Amino acid sequence: MTELRAYQQYIDGQWADAVSGSTFESENPTLGAPWAIAPDSGAEDIDLAVAAARRAFDSAEWRCSLPQYRARLLRRLAALVEEHGPEIAEIETQDNGKLIMEQRLQWVLAAELLYYWAGMADKIDGRSIAAPLPLPVKGLPIPESFVYTRREPVGVVAAVTPWNSPGGQLLYKFGPAIAAGCTIVAKPSEHTPASTLEIARLVDKAGFPAGVFNVVTSQDRETGAALASHPDVDKVSFTGSTATGKSIVRAAADNMKRVTCELGGKSASLVFDDADIPTAVKGVMAGIFAATGQTCMAGSRVLAQEGIHDAFVAALAEAAERMIIGDPMDAETQMGPISNRPNYEKVIGYLASAEDEGATIVCGGGPHEQLGGYYVRPTVITNVDNAMRIAREEIFGPVASIIRFRDEEEAIAIANDTQYGLGGAVFTQSIPRAHRVAHRLRAGSVWINTYRLVTHMAPFGGYKESGWGREGGPEGLDAFLETKAVWTPVE
Ligand code: NAD
Repeated sequence: MTELRAYQQYIDGQWADAVSGSTFESENPTLGAPWAIAPDSGAEDIDLAVAAARRAFDSAEWRCSLPQYRARLLRRLAALVEEHGPEIAEIETQDNGKLIMEQRLQWVLAAELLYYWAGMADKIDGRSIAAPLPLPVKGLPIPESFVYTRREPVGVVAAVTPWNSPGGQLLYKFGPAIAAGCTIVAKPSEHTPASTLEIARLVDKAGFPAGVFNVVTSQDRETGAALASHPDVDKVSFTGSTATGKSIVRAAADNMKRVTCELGGKSASLVFDDADIPTAVKGVMAGIFAATGQTCMAGSRVLAQEGIHDAFVAALAEAAERMIIGDPMDAETQMGPISNRPNYEKVIGYLASAEDEGATIVCGGGPHEQLGGYYVRPTVITNVDNAMRIAREEIFGPVASIIRFRDEEEAIAIANDTQYGLGGAVFTQSIPRAHRVAHRLRAGSVWINTYRLVTHMAPFGGYKESGWGREGGPEGLDAFLETKAVWTPVE
């Protein structure tokens, strides 16, 4: 048996086992077998990590640090990510089964993201505001004064991340948090501890002061809860499911922590009669089959207009059946496994419920028998009604539910009839319709004749139960800053 890759956690600039000494195994979903081992930490480790982040935040070295200093650290880290990105890409593919081709691109973009936030660190400034004039009220003179605002770091940040894109999700928080001057305790998913600890290795090498970045790993979801409810954490930056997001919001109420949440979705792709079928098929495939459908922004509901419905479904099913499914480490593979056993079982369960509810499976519909691990065939389901479970709940797998519509009004009504509001797409050759519909979709991102384009330079986030706040771009920086008004009389 090959030896498991062994990790320690990173607290206060030191590598350490869990206080309890416990460990847990992380599975490689391509094999359905363990490949790495990490500390299984508890509340006592969280206390140590939060205390280290607090000390670092309060230290003169960090509190009084020039933005140029933080920018230099971010640039050093970016250079290390450029150098080691290809290795981390392979590690993450073993941990969560995402295609190596996508991982390689993601780690190139990760370095770009860090350079972007390095450039932002010294552009954080405030406003000066017109001084109020004395009021003509006898006996109540208001001195002429000057007020200016300062943008200050929010404090100790808990960064809690999911398994589908663990390294990338962490860096979306890390970049702006460090640019703002915060310190961080990161808690990756119990299914994918590796890439966050690999990032910690590079943070250490880049020379970040001890305690500025800490990582605690655990298989116990209570450890995440202990971090999110910790009284000395000022902000939780969370990416994960809506159910967990809600419990984090409740836990944050005790000390009124700041919270941003990037949550789940049930996004709709709207395919109109005048769409170009090859373009729509390409976009819808990117929306629902990329990353084996395990993306928050997955276009899992596909709304097809009556006139194009049959031709579009036939073309989509044909393309889905042609997909190369297999080893995510192989550059030719187009779809890898589901990332872990619980999600695999959940996806299979939804496929059974689709037929029970009266929908029709056109292609796929179950596991890939020839492959080991957690493989599911790309699936297209028709005769779906928006009230069915497969149209309302996040499946988080390669399952496209096709819903037929008559006209634009009906399409918009169906698309918006969901608790979620993360993304959406419009496929049409009419420019006015594209923008008209994009404006009416209640979602944080809308793509026109494409899908799944994202960048750290643009805001990303959800309406409704898909989240609070935005990540990326200047909007993403705001989430790590407090605003202070400073007053002084000028008389
Ligand atoms: P999850 O909510 O089960 O877990 C996410 C993280 O929260 C994990 O690290 C977990 O250990 C931790 N956690 C669990 N219970 C907790 C608690 N009570 N308090 C604090 N932390 C706790 O999500 P998942 O299954 O890992 O990821 C899939 C979900 O993430 C999907 O719903 C997907 O849509 C969502 N997601 C959203 C985005 C986005 O940007 N909107 C991106 C990626 C994934």
